[in-house]
Amino acid sequence: MKRVHLALFALMLAASALLAKTDVAVAAVATSIDVCCPWNEKLADGDLTYKISGASGATLTAMLDAVENWETETGITLTPATGRTKPDIALKFKTGGGSVQGQALRKFDSNGFVTSVNINVSGMAFGIDVGAVHQITMHEMGHALGAGHANGDGVLMSPTINGGVDGITSCDRAAVLAAQNWYFEDPSSPTQPSVTSVSC
Ligand SMILES: [Zn+2]
Repeated sequence: MKRVHLALFALMLAASALLAKTDVAVAAVATSIDVCCPWNEKLADGDLTYKISGASGATLTAMLDAVENWETETGITLTPATGRTKPDIALKFKTGGGSVQGQALRKFDSNGFVTSVNINVSGMAFGIDVGAVHQITMHEMGHALGAGHANGDGVLMSPTINGGVDGITSCDRAAVLAAQNWYFEDPSSPTQPSVTSVSC
């Protein structure tokens, strides 16, 4: 009887060790970020236009700051679209829903180059978490500029907001530069990136 009991205990120990290992794997720090999508010839002049709609006050300030951070980090000029000109990157803020969420929808030409991006950020109707709006806008702008997701936590392009950070790490920056490599190497005509991911 006692022997059976001990065996069961050993099994439980083994099972808990396995669980702990799984948890560690989920929370692992990112080692790479996917490189996605180069812009089309619109980027040849080093300038993309954007427009923020639906945001005001602290929310607008947070979204503007997110755009400016990417401009500083990449050297790609991001200019507000004027008048009725359709922006290259349209950022829309919408109140509603239970938590702050974001998505970036890219449109492509027939050669697989990005022609425009729509970013949607939605927040709670009351008590908007401005910090979350900032981080999500930064993350979605990373997608707009060509980065995919990281394979773990600790960078802006981490797949979840809780696992990610509210800042552009050198790895996030490298993913965008790799995606738009044609512009930095030879801005005369778009080419697909030479790598599918960058190491962190
Ligand atoms: Zn994402």
